[in-house]
Amino acid sequence: MYFCENCNKVSEYDFCRDCGRGDLREVKDHDFCFLTECKNSFGEMMKNLLDQEDIPCVLLPYGSGARTAFGMKLENYRIFVPFSHFDKAKNILDLFG
Ligand SMILES: [Zn+2]
Repeated sequence: MYFCENCNKVSEYDFCRDCGRGDLREVKDHDFCFLTECKNSFGEMMKNLLDQEDIPCVLLPYGSGARTAFGMKLENYRIFVPFSHFDKAKNILDLFG
């Protein structure tokens, strides 16, 4: 598996299907990989579940620039987990898919 440092995404191929970057490096266990983008409330719940499973995760607020400019709370989270825990985290996420 490969890793795109632009998008923080795992890729089966040595190029990124999201940004088109080529010549990707092999993914490493400690690389934080994009898991999903979700609503605030779901993100908080996922974080609790991941915590319970001892899966480290990073939640980044993500929203449109306009909302940020108006100082409104961002609506979405992007969740990242280390590649070493990615499959397990994906399984948890799939329970809600
Ligand atoms: Zn990319």
